[in-house]
Amino acid sequence: MSRISDFTGKSAVENIKEALRRARDVEDYHALLSLTEERALERAELVDKGEISGRLAGVPFVVKDNFLAFGAPTTAAAKMLENFEAPLQAMAVEKLEAEGAICIGKANLDAFAHGGSTENSAFGPTKNAADKTRVAGGSSGGSAVVTALDVVPFALGTDTGGSIRQPASFNGVVGVKPTYGAVSRYGVVAMASSTDTIGCFATNADDANLVMEIMAGRDDKDMTTLPDFWQHQPEFTKKKIGLVKQCMTDDVDAAVRQKTLDYAAKLKRLGYDVEEVDLSMMQHSLAMYYIIVPAEISSNLARYDGVRYGHRATEVKTLAELYGRSRNEGFTTENKRRIMIGSFVLSSGFFDAYYMQAQKARTLLINEFKQLFAEYDALLMPVAPTPAFKLGENTNDPIKMYLADIMTVPASLAGLPAISVPAGTSDEGLPIGVQLIGDRQSDSNLLKLASEVEAA
Ligand code: GLN
Repeated sequence: MSRISDFTGKSAVENIKEALRRARDVEDYHALLSLTEERALERAELVDKGEISGRLAGVPFVVKDNFLAFGAPTTAAAKMLENFEAPLQAMAVEKLEAEGAICIGKANLDAFAHGGSTENSAFGPTKNAADKTRVAGGSSGGSAVVTALDVVPFALGTDTGGSIRQPASFNGVVGVKPTYGAVSRYGVVAMASSTDTIGCFATNADDANLVMEIMAGRDDKDMTTLPDFWQHQPEFTKKKIGLVKQCMTDDVDAAVRQKTLDYAAKLKRLGYDVEEVDLSMMQHSLAMYYIIVPAEISSNLARYDGVRYGHRATEVKTLAELYGRSRNEGFTTENKRRIMIGSFVLSSGFFDAYYMQAQKARTLLINEFKQLFAEYDALLMPVAPTPAFKLGENTNDPIKMYLADIMTVPASLAGLPAISVPAGTSDEGLPIGVQLIGDRQSDSNLLKLASEVEAA
């Protein structure tokens, strides 16, 4: 797989033409919803003339189709936004463009990022890069697959409960979910505001670190963003890594456990002590996540009413019918399920019993992480209980689909940085990743650690 440095210092027009050619070659994976060809080639010419320069000059990339970007519609893979032309670009995209990077297309996802397989896309599923009969993972499945298939050296995604880490693991690339607030979410379609993060896929940890460093930083347009911390992180000094024992039980696929242990052995060779640790609140994290996140979704998706923008039903007689039919036609089944669960847990009769309880439990989880980071530099665990599952295997059973998120949602609820790094393949040749979770604002240390392991 190629690295960012394979593209810099070359003809940008050639880079872009080659990436577009690759994108067309692998069309049958359905990883991309659109190409931004015209705008990409125009920008490439400006790079070649020296009018645009920077650390990523002429480097092609892809964005998940929930980032507002010029050159193609921003659909969030939902009928609701099928023809939506962005009036502005996401801050993350603007920052990459300011360094000369060139967006060539927009990647498939689960509609509004609700899902873990990219099968919830209104425009059809994406196939796994290593096995076309299997899921890409999700919700940022398309971005993971274009990186794994070497269409582009990096791609952007969003991670609310695992949507970057899990598809990274399923396709054998590096995936970064940063500290909550590290990267501005301005211009990105909102899912759940208290856990939404912007991150990237890359073929190696150093490239991922560079892309994240460029995107990170305070933005007045997103009040949750943190002051720039990317380059000012205190080094890991404890030299201790915690292996989360709740993730190493018999319920977890044997190959997944073995790859995690192999990674632990590599960390030991680099001089780290690896000890088993307890993250007992993890067992409640899915219950918390699937209350808090739908609650926020039901609120964030209320804006799609068929009036201001997005899909509008025709031949309606009343305002209520306009709202109802537009939303019914524009959202997928999974979107509707989450809106209904969210409205239920926020309703006055059930707010205390569900939503408040979930938020209290979340605080206990945060405290448990805090105690672990007093002793350990980072935590090691799998990304998902299994390698990529078969297309269609979990689509009729939402609970089974949600269970696959068990290992990624804890870091999301706690706002912690977490990365997924390739750790080998199963006997069937399916990629398996491992997850490193750090304390807040230790993102680049995690990536440096992963880079050391890659080098060794
Ligand atoms: N699979 C998780 C969910 O369905 C994560 C989604 C995400 O991170 N956007 O909610």
